[in-house]
Amino acid sequence: MERDLRRLDIKLSFKCNNHCKFCVQGEKRNYCKDRSSENVKNILMNFKKRDYVVFTGGEPTIRADIFELVKFSKSLNFKTIQIQTNGRMFAYEDFCKSIIDSGANEFSPAIHGPDEETHDFLTSVPGSFKQTIRGIVNLKKMGQYIISNTVITATNYKFLPKIAKLLVSLGVDQFQFAFLHIAGTALKNKDWIVPKKSIIIPYVLEGLNIGIKSGRKVTTEAIPYCFMKGYENSIAENYIPKTKVFDQYFTIDDYTKYRITKGKAKNQKCKKCFYDYICEGPWREYPEIFGWDEFKPVIDSEK
Ligand code: SF4
Repeated sequence: MERDLRRLDIKLSFKCNNHCKFCVQGEKRNYCKDRSSENVKNILMNFKKRDYVVFTGGEPTIRADIFELVKFSKSLNFKTIQIQTNGRMFAYEDFCKSIIDSGANEFSPAIHGPDEETHDFLTSVPGSFKQTIRGIVNLKKMGQYIISNTVITATNYKFLPKIAKLLVSLGVDQFQFAFLHIAGTALKNKDWIVPKKSIIIPYVLEGLNIGIKSGRKVTTEAIPYCFMKGYENSIAENYIPKTKVFDQYFTIDDYTKYRITKGKAKNQKCKKCFYDYICEGPWREYPEIFGWDEFKPVIDSEK
């Protein structure tokens, strides 16, 4: 389990060519300034002893200087240069080639449905599904490592097994199902976009099984142990490297610590749970809305 403090997460800009109905960054696209190239390079210089950088946002691939920033990271010997993306720009083979030649070597595209109808509804952009799928196909053709992410919502949870089949057929190396975080645009849409955790679980586990049987690494995010019996090894929080996050107006030194102390919540009854010592609990907004009834402490003898 790699937990060294080694990863940088740099939010380059909150601008995006999608308008996802669950976007945790919400209105930041309208009032946050883009980080300058110089500022990003300074961060990379100052933390060049780390070996893993994630460029994210917003959508990092729509920045004019993305190749320059990737090249600069490469020149500083970052071993893993990940692009966290909606995947649409990768529909263009020239773009794929240029960013790979610049040094990017890990790609995390987002796929939120098994078809145009579901994905394009959630991204609010007709044609986005086709572009992201084409992007994944292009990247795999070029031999790249892909870790896809799917945000679980009330609209798509029943399709998680179908999404898993699609991802396996596309050859993604790893996929993740992440429970939406009720903040930003997701908070605005909370009355219809948030599913109950207890309802999604059979679909989540069926989707994970499809990946596991096909030899893929599969993970879930923001779903505590009490819902994951038999799939505890798929809980992403076990593996996420400790990360320093550069947001627009603040920096988080250790994102793991931030999640545990500020972002997520536990209940009094968690103290009785076998997993209390490692479980981060749900993002705090979920029990604020739905309460704690679904969270049942795991008793040692029931494991
Ligand atoms: S500690 Fe709480 S939230 Fe975590 S698995 Fe146990 S009951 Fe669930």
